[in-house]
Amino acid sequence: MLEINFTNEQLKVLKKSDEETNPNDLIALFNKPALKSEELVQILKASNALYRTGISVVTDQQYDLYISMLKDINHLHPYLNKVESEVLAEAKTVPLPKKMLSTDKAYSFDEIKKWVKRIIKAAEEIGISESDINIRVTPKLDGYAAYDDGTILYTRGDGYRGQDVTRAFDKGLQVAQNGQRGLGPGEIVIKKSYFDAVLSEKFENSRNIQAAIIAEKKVDKSIQKAIDDGACVFYPFQLIENKTAHYSEILTHFDSIVEKMWKAVDFYIDGVILETTNEELKEHMGATRHHHRWQIAFKVNEESAEVKVVKIVPQTSRTGRIAPVAELEPTKLSGATISRVTVHHYNMVKTRGIGPGAIVQLVRSGLVIPKIEKVIKKSSADISYIPEVCPSCETHLLWESDHLICPNKTDCPAQTENTLVHFFKTLGNNDGFGPKVIEKLHEFGMKRIHDIYEGQKHKFVGFGFGEKTAQNLVDQLKASQEIEIEDWRFLAAFGVSRLAGGNCEKLLQHHSLVGLFDVSVDDMIKIDGFAKQSAEAIVEGLNNVRDEFFKVYELGFNFTVTPKESNKSNNGSQIAGKLVVFSGAMTQGSRGDMEKQAKLLGAKVGKSVSGKTDFLVTGEKVGENKIKAARDKGVKVISEEEYLLLING
Ligand SMILES: [Zn+2]
Repeated sequence: MLEINFTNEQLKVLKKSDEETNPNDLIALFNKPALKSEELVQILKASNALYRTGISVVTDQQYDLYISMLKDINHLHPYLNKVESEVLAEAKTVPLPKKMLSTDKAYSFDEIKKWVKRIIKAAEEIGISESDINIRVTPKLDGYAAYDDGTILYTRGDGYRGQDVTRAFDKGLQVAQNGQRGLGPGEIVIKKSYFDAVLSEKFENSRNIQAAIIAEKKVDKSIQKAIDDGACVFYPFQLIENKTAHYSEILTHFDSIVEKMWKAVDFYIDGVILETTNEELKEHMGATRHHHRWQIAFKVNEESAEVKVVKIVPQTSRTGRIAPVAELEPTKLSGATISRVTVHHYNMVKTRGIGPGAIVQLVRSGLVIPKIEKVIKKSSADISYIPEVCPSCETHLLWESDHLICPNKTDCPAQTENTLVHFFKTLGNNDGFGPKVIEKLHEFGMKRIHDIYEGQKHKFVGFGFGEKTAQNLVDQLKASQEIEIEDWRFLAAFGVSRLAGGNCEKLLQHHSLVGLFDVSVDDMIKIDGFAKQSAEAIVEGLNNVRDEFFKVYELGFNFTVTPKESNKSNNGSQIAGKLVVFSGAMTQGSRGDMEKQAKLLGAKVGKSVSGKTDFLVTGEKVGENKIKAARDKGVKVISEEEYLLLING
């Protein structure tokens, strides 16, 4: 039984999306097995409206299923020809400069081939040669659709009238790829890696964030930071990665092109878009009220299969948890052969009987990693497939809630090697230390991060690396110490349980990087967002890495220090809490140093001027136009000397 607790905002949205629907009836509808067409429309309207506020009451597949149920009842139903509307609680709408339609969807290669046939036919009708039919394939961004005419940013609304949400740019939102304003339709999106590393602890999905960016009220601090960091952007379709080629090439290499586009960007995507590029042809093909005929989205349905488990193989992770990997009888699913899948934890393996001979239902949506949906038949083997010792170091395993763990923190090869991999991956500022290189270093006895940093060129050569590679490794290590790195990222690289980027940053807003190691559980729970259990785990985890942390820390790194909470509100600095942009060449020091200092004083530093900017600090050679444009936005423009007086005064 589905249960939803609606917020007032969502109730408002629901009321606006459909006067007729009362929220309680709606929940009853979601749980009803057979539905009439008007009930389907109610569900579609409501889920659509709620989706735009950040609540997913149905999955994309279920949504599409409701659409096809409606088609089955009446394929001419007027709702099917409406563009899915994006409803905000506030009502005022303005006409869009250009209409924004939905995209027709295809779920199979056959449908794509039929669509291409229609294009070829249309080309023939107006005398365009078949050899001139090119198709552009792009990732289909799963964000918040908007239209930027250079002055106003509009929501898609009903495709004809939308709402003015220019305030998103006033909040500092930038255009992706350093693009200009005014590039027409696009999506407000957030970088997937950033969301996973920084925001996923706080927000359930990226849609909550998109909704907040266009909402009237001030955004949450962490979202503002994501905007300032350039992780949230408006991405105009014109600028997005694409593969453009003759239609025959696209059809011949369809699978690999789709796969490539699916992985082309660091944003959530829910399919790929195919469109013809010939303007004359586009005009000739035109549009229905719902979609352009010259464009189609290719999506992949969720597929499932019943699969037999061959055996369960334990794998020790960086944190010492033992991950159960189920080896399966190879099975084709959504175009790939699946032969293994990771089960959540060993308690699931134990209690649900996922062992040799078990039959499980495997589900895969698109190109994402498959997962076990349910157990059809339990394993009849005895429980000997639950390991007793660590596969890497043979230490006796312990249960910790649902997980089996290897307690050998200091000398378990799997843990030490994976810790090294995690460190360099999290640092993210050099590409010499990937898993392969680390495996080799580890094999030769470099088991700690500081061992690697203290490695000399001749040592690397001794391990079998070539002269050039060895020199490159030494150079990269040096560079990783010199390149600026956020202190929270450095801390997160040590891989302490419950200390991913977001939590590290929160703690460092209250304590220094070094001081954090002496914070007690009692002090930690005073910080917003840290419950007793987490605090205990973090304090213990920090203690475990203490020696290694200080050995590495003392090698010297170039930190950007996380601004302290107290600095932000009131530390006497005139720029605390203000958004400052530096422009032009500075005379008192490098611009980078000045930006760093401003951050230490609690200011936010922007890259370009927006309506949100408080100060534009101008160095030498700043154009009059830039200064005038900033003044027009109400930004206070000050010279470098005035700025220095301001922060020292
Ligand atoms: Zn072990």
